[in-house]
Amino acid sequence: MLQVTATKIFEFAYAHRLPSYRGKCGNLHGHTAKVEITVAGVQGERYPGITADFHEIKDKVGLIVEELDHKCLNEVVGRAACDAPEYFEQVGDEGGALVVAPTAENMVRWFKLRLEREWPEADVVRIRFWESPSSYCEWNRSG
Ligand SMILES: [Zn+2]
Repeated sequence: MLQVTATKIFEFAYAHRLPSYRGKCGNLHGHTAKVEITVAGVQGERYPGITADFHEIKDKVGLIVEELDHKCLNEVVGRAACDAPEYFEQVGDEGGALVVAPTAENMVRWFKLRLEREWPEADVVRIRFWESPSSYCEWNRSG
């Protein structure tokens, strides 16, 4: 059978700043982000012909997106990094403390981590995080 993936797109607003960054992104500012989650299958019973039910993707990923919506991502991503330091590269902040910056790359890593923990039944094959309408970072299973 031809392998077909299913993708759902989520939008949310956030604030962040990049610690010790030389340039505008070092200041607190906001984005409207978009994240695309692509699934190649879900363990368990499924309707014939459906790879992953869009409603299920919406429910599972929607809860994860809620953790970020209208939040300051420096705090959210910093907490996750304490929990799974192997996922993130750290940077020294202005006070000298090692922190994880909420870059678009790290947001992809954050989604990967949260999906592995909250929805292990799903075979997620691509995560694309749009920081702006013209800039995104992506992880995909094929590298
Ligand atoms: Zn930014």
